[in-house]
Amino acid sequence: MDPFAKTRRLFLKRVTRYGLALALLAGAKPALAKSKPALTGIRISQSTDDHTRVVFDLTGDFEHNLFTLNDPHRIVIDLHDTRESEVIEISDKATTLMRGIRSASKDGGRLRVVLDLRGKARPRSFELKPDGKAGHRLVVDLYATHLSPTPIKTSQQERSKQKKQFVIALDPGHGGRDPGAIGKKGTREKDVALSVAKKLKTLINRDSGYRAILTRDGDRFVTLRNRVKKAREAEADIFVSLHADSFHKSNVTGASVYALSLSGASSEAARWIAEKENASDLIGGISLDDKDDLIASVLLDLSQTATIQDSLELGSDVLKNIGKVSRLNNRQVQQAGFAVLKAPDMPSILIETAFLSNPAEEKKLRNPKHQHKLAKAVFSGIKNHLKNRQA
Ligand SMILES: [Zn+2]
Repeated sequence: MDPFAKTRRLFLKRVTRYGLALALLAGAKPALAKSKPALTGIRISQSTDDHTRVVFDLTGDFEHNLFTLNDPHRIVIDLHDTRESEVIEISDKATTLMRGIRSASKDGGRLRVVLDLRGKARPRSFELKPDGKAGHRLVVDLYATHLSPTPIKTSQQERSKQKKQFVIALDPGHGGRDPGAIGKKGTREKDVALSVAKKLKTLINRDSGYRAILTRDGDRFVTLRNRVKKAREAEADIFVSLHADSFHKSNVTGASVYALSLSGASSEAARWIAEKENASDLIGGISLDDKDDLIASVLLDLSQTATIQDSLELGSDVLKNIGKVSRLNNRQVQQAGFAVLKAPDMPSILIETAFLSNPAEEKKLRNPKHQHKLAKAVFSGIKNHLKNRQA
């Protein structure tokens, strides 16, 4: 079912055909006015209480600026050299994050649109080129900030409503019939990964702002897709896969952190599209049902590009902290096409904690004290990332 069909039906467009005639009477040159892109529609939809999407339809190429203002909270979008060609009435402009929307022409041919918010919200915007029936579009996504672990200062009553735990999915690599890498002393990757994940889970759950879930909590085989599925079902905000490397040269050492690479993402996007039924939520609100695969692919890629950027920043914060307790194989976050990192809407990283093929690192990785240190470092990295993102 398309969750936005109802919202879409609510849009009542009223074209002001008199606009051009008035302009002619006033002596304006219609040719000049015509060359400017026009804002022809504003569509508002809400997928969950935490997300509102506002799509602006424009007749041509445009440039935009977006900034936020407080007291009261609002988001200002300037569309440069743009006119408003139609008056659009939307019978229900309000969502859980937004009270209303208004627009006004400004100096220098700018069209200013203001989104009046109910509270603080995190905006993200991107422009879309014409595709099929759809023309130029500006998409503005609003995300609830209570997704952050920092409690919002407010009255006691509201606080209990607004405080939401940040959910972290921990994914111990391999399991069951898949042991992963095996060290010279027989240490199996699947065991150390689970051990570190369980320690990390305990640390996370001790902090009231966070909650951890495991994609496997025993020695079981779980497919990569089911790991991601589990995390999504738990509405995880972050996905962290834990592994231990192996290499044919035993002198190679150090931890690495991976994020998804774009080249790896494009092929998986096609797979997600094959599952359109489930995909509508993945890109944060736009239903894919009524769009062709090409548009769906573009939307997924855009969503994934933003997620990869988030993942790289998360990875970098985690890597910095791991560097305090372990040798690093690489000081930069690496990118590769790991299937387990391909959720388009959930920042995901994969940590290779050490090389089991190196005897010294194998010994260290078996040590519960070192496992605890690693877990602490990963959690510190996650917390740093969330704080930075908040700032
Ligand atoms: Zn592995």
